Amino acid sequence: MTRKVRPYLFYDTTQSVCTRCLRPAEAKILVKDGQVFMDKWCPAHGTERVLVSDDADYYRLCREVYVKPPEMPQRFATPMAYGCPYDCGLCPDHMQHSCLSIVEISDHCNLRCPTCYAASGPERLTHRSMDEVVAMLDAIVASEGEADVVQISGGEPTLHPRFFDILDAARARPIKHLMVNTNGLRIAQDAAFAERLAGYAPGLEVYLQFDSLRREALMDLRGADLRRPHGEALARLDALGISTTLVMTVKRGVNDDEIGDVIRHGQAFGCVRGVTLQPVQNAGRVEAYEAAKHRLTVSELRRRIAEQSGVFTLADVLPVPCNPDTLAMAYALRGPGGSLTPLTRYLDATTLLSGDRSTIVFEGDPALKASVFKLFSTNHSPESQSNCLSELLCCLPRVDAPRLSYRDVFRVLIVQFMDAQSLDIRALKKSCIHIARPDGRLIPFESYNLFYRDERQAELAQIRAEIDAQREQRRQAVMPTVSIARA
Ligand code: SF4
Ligand code: SF4
Repeated sequence: MTRKVRPYLFYDTTQSVCTRCLRPAEAKILVKDGQVFMDKWCPAHGTERVLVSDDADYYRLCREVYVKPPEMPQRFATPMAYGCPYDCGLCPDHMQHSCLSIVEISDHCNLRCPTCYAASGPERLTHRSMDEVVAMLDAIVASEGEADVVQISGGEPTLHPRFFDILDAARARPIKHLMVNTNGLRIAQDAAFAERLAGYAPGLEVYLQFDSLRREALMDLRGADLRRPHGEALARLDALGISTTLVMTVKRGVNDDEIGDVIRHGQAFGCVRGVTLQPVQNAGRVEAYEAAKHRLTVSELRRRIAEQSGVFTLADVLPVPCNPDTLAMAYALRGPGGSLTPLTRYLDATTLLSGDRSTIVFEGDPALKASVFKLFSTNHSPESQSNCLSELLCCLPRVDAPRLSYRDVFRVLIVQFMDAQSLDIRALKKSCIHIARPDGRLIPFESYNLFYRDERQAELAQIRAEIDAQREQRRQAVMPTVSIARA
């Protein structure tokens, strides 16, 4: 008799949430025709198949090679009471410290983008008070000791009336690197503001919204033709020498063909340290979004970088070991005329994993420049470069090499924030990008947008009440059995 065989490889089990009701859903990871899928099952809403990766080899590389022991925070702020992702956080079952901590200081914004995970806009007028901001900064320091990166975000943070007091408060704390997440309008329009901001450099980076060089894509994602203000902001940042990362929200069929153009655009500005690609997450305000049409996975973005950049190959874009399911990066050295020479193609897995930290920011570490300089001036084999390049990929720089600075390094980073559809609890537990709360919690970005932001908390309260009821039912169900057994 010939037995029937399932048309896929059953790779693993995991847990997710139901896309419709956000309650726990069992999930299987399946490999089929070179692609990876998550098959979810909700008792109430049935099955759902989600594409996790269109490159099974890369997925297996992330799962089987790019893993390292999790680095822990200094404290956990919440107990395990309801199970993941309903206990954030960080609860004791979280498996990564905060590489990047976000402090959202305002709900207000001078844009109302059709795509905004925070659902910010001009109509929302609330800013966090100074006391709340200080409490969030202190929560980060309590969790991290010395924080690697703190990102001041919003809404549009530059509109907060005490924006510079907030930067001062951050500077007064043990925080290595500050980022300001901005749409760039104020930088473009207000020269005095930008000059004052420049006073916080070095150790300050502008995380500049920069989705496209085309009007149509900007209208789709931002509801406005931002080409001119983006250009003005970038020219001003360049003139002031403020480290800048271009942040591209990527939507399939809208701007995923522009990744190479944006990288090349960034190359032309000396202030640009790299480009970060964030596929659209179905969270907050996401108008004109259909998952089947617009969703992108890390492996797809990785391929687009290789196809469009003219610089990086697939071998240059590597998983980041602290959370390889959702993060990938490539580094290059800047050369004459803005040319780029990729670094990461010279690495092997053991090189990356030998680093003593697993964070994702590179400025400020003295070993970085020394490591890179050594690699390219002495033409070592990949194996011999392990220490300096692992620092380059995962850690803050320790810069003391004579001729190479962070200005010579260009980074392309993919950051995928999972949403209800793609949520894999195994990967969520390794999230290293966390949003601070004034009550002392640090909540992974993905679960924050699903359960802990604004009105989403009412849904969380309902789910927790159901879990409480189920817990009580279980206790009631088990008690008679136990007493019979003892009798
Ligand atoms: S995501 Fe992390 S902090 Fe949140 S419940 Fe899960 S393990 Fe705990
Ligand atoms: S995405 Fe940024 S710029 Fe757009 S509305 Fe939201 S906070 Fe404002």
